[in-house]
Amino acid sequence: MKEEGRRKKVEVKWKVLRRFTVAFFLLLSAFSISVRGEADKYEVYAVRFATLADFPVSSLIAGADRARRMDIAMMIWVLKGADGRVAIVDSGFHREQYFRQFTVKDYITPSDAIAPLGLKPADVTDIFLSHMHWDHAGGIDLFPSARVWLQKEEYDYYTGDAWQSARTHGGIDADDVLEIVRRNTMGKVSFVRGDDETSLSGIGFGIGGKHTFQSQFVTVTTRTGTVVMASDNVYLYENMDAHKAIAQTLDAVSNLRTQDRMRSLASDPRLVVPGHDPAVFDRFPKVSDRIVRIE
Ligand SMILES: [Zn+2]
Repeated sequence: MKEEGRRKKVEVKWKVLRRFTVAFFLLLSAFSISVRGEADKYEVYAVRFATLADFPVSSLIAGADRARRMDIAMMIWVLKGADGRVAIVDSGFHREQYFRQFTVKDYITPSDAIAPLGLKPADVTDIFLSHMHWDHAGGIDLFPSARVWLQKEEYDYYTGDAWQSARTHGGIDADDVLEIVRRNTMGKVSFVRGDDETSLSGIGFGIGGKHTFQSQFVTVTTRTGTVVMASDNVYLYENMDAHKAIAQTLDAVSNLRTQDRMRSLASDPRLVVPGHDPAVFDRFPKVSDRIVRIE
C-alpha cells in the first residue's frame, strides 16, 4: 500500500510538472510570435521626387482617349521596418538625358527626397526593384550601400538577351544595367525567383504580369494589414477602377489577372498603391510636402 501511495504521488507530481511545462512553452511561443509579429511590421510612405507634365494618358491606360493628358507623379516608396530595415521600392532616376526627353517638374533627387523621414541615402539597406525601366532603376547608384532585390528573370534578360535586338530594351538605360551588374559583383544583388513570401519576414514579392520581361510587385505587412506596392504593374487608380490593362505591357491578360491578384492580397483594395497616380498624395495623410503615409 505504502509503495502504491508513493507511486501515485510521484505520478501526480509528474502530471503537474508536465502541465506546467506545456503551459510554459505555449506562453513562450505566444510571446515569440508576438515579438516576431512586431519585427515584421513596416511603416510605408510614398515619396514624390518629381512630376512629368502633360503625359499622354493613352500611354498609361490601354485604349484611353489620345487627347487626354495629365501630370503624373514620379515616386519611390519607403518601407521602414521595426527591425531596422529601411527598404525602398524602386529608386527613381537622375540621368541627364531624361530631363531633355520629358517635361520634368519639381525634381529633387530621390536620395534627398527621403530626408523628411530622417533618412540619409546610406541608411537605405535594401532596394526592392519592381522592374528595370529608367524611371525606377535609374537611382540605384544614389543608394550605395543597398542590396537590390529583383526577379532573376528580369536581371538575366536585361543584362543579356534584351540587347540582341533594337526592339527589346525600350525604356531600359544601359548605365542602369552596368550599375546593377556592378552591384551584383559586389555581392549586393538578391535574385527573387517568382512569387516569394519567405525570403524576408513581413515582405512578399509577386510576379508582376509582364509590365517588363519579369516585373514584380511587393506586399508589406503594416500595423493595420497588408499594403501592396504595385509600382507600374498598375499606373493609375483608373486602371483598377475601370479594369483596364496598363498601356505598356507584354501581356494585357496577364496584367489584368495580376491587378485582380494584388487587390485580393491587400487588406483593402485602397491599399494597392499605383506607380504614377498623383491622387496617392490626396488619398493618404501628409507627412510633409512630398510624402504621405500609406495606412
Ligand atoms: Zn514608371
